[in-house]
Amino acid sequence: MAHHKEERTFVIIKPDGVQRTLIGEIIGRYERLGLKLVAMKMLVTNEDHVEAHYTLDPTWRTVTGEKTIKSYKDKGLTPPSEDPLEITAKILLGLKKYMTSGPIVAMVWQGAHAVKIVRKVTGSTEPLSSDVGSIRGDFVLDSYQMSDTDSRAIRNLVHASGSPEEAEMEIKHWFKPEELTKYRLIADEMLYDVNIDGILE
Ligand code: GDP
Ligand code: MG
Repeated sequence: MAHHKEERTFVIIKPDGVQRTLIGEIIGRYERLGLKLVAMKMLVTNEDHVEAHYTLDPTWRTVTGEKTIKSYKDKGLTPPSEDPLEITAKILLGLKKYMTSGPIVAMVWQGAHAVKIVRKVTGSTEPLSSDVGSIRGDFVLDSYQMSDTDSRAIRNLVHASGSPEEAEMEIKHWFKPEELTKYRLIADEMLYDVNIDGILE
């Protein structure tokens, strides 16, 4: 098994993150954790690429549809449909419009527990309930209630992979192998070296 420090995750600063001039703030939050930025580019994507991204996991349509229906029912509300696939078809339409509305910044971050650490700092999907201190909790105010009423995707600034397997699929989807740089970060020694020596003179 690869060492923990080899774990990678894929992050997108979505169009609202760019428009809200939060690129530096968001990158800074991941950088200060000790993670290493191994790839980054700004681009404008297209609807097919966005749909393919969200459906890289073949179960995404069903799982997200079922999760959405459950969250309506948990709140005592009637879901717009009982069919998970109908729900996700609608969510996908909103996501395609949102994600192609302006430039985005795609990144790959590497380091111990990269996937979980980035999800923790990013916060949960709905900004209304994201923890204070997280990116989605601190910089934006959207809710499912508001985005559903307006038939649009929730604006939550960032996408971050949900698991190491999802991360590897997403990295392949957005980057060519040569766009990823392997390099040594001097700070890595402080985070990972077993013997801390060579500091004192
Ligand atoms: P993420 O990994 O935190 O972005 O969340 P998911 O992978 O579960 O969902 C991807 C996207 O689908 C989210 O960013 C939302 O735009 C949308 N989505 C997910 N769950 C729901 C839901 O319960 N209701 C609505 N309206 N949209 C959802
Ligand atoms: Mg996800």
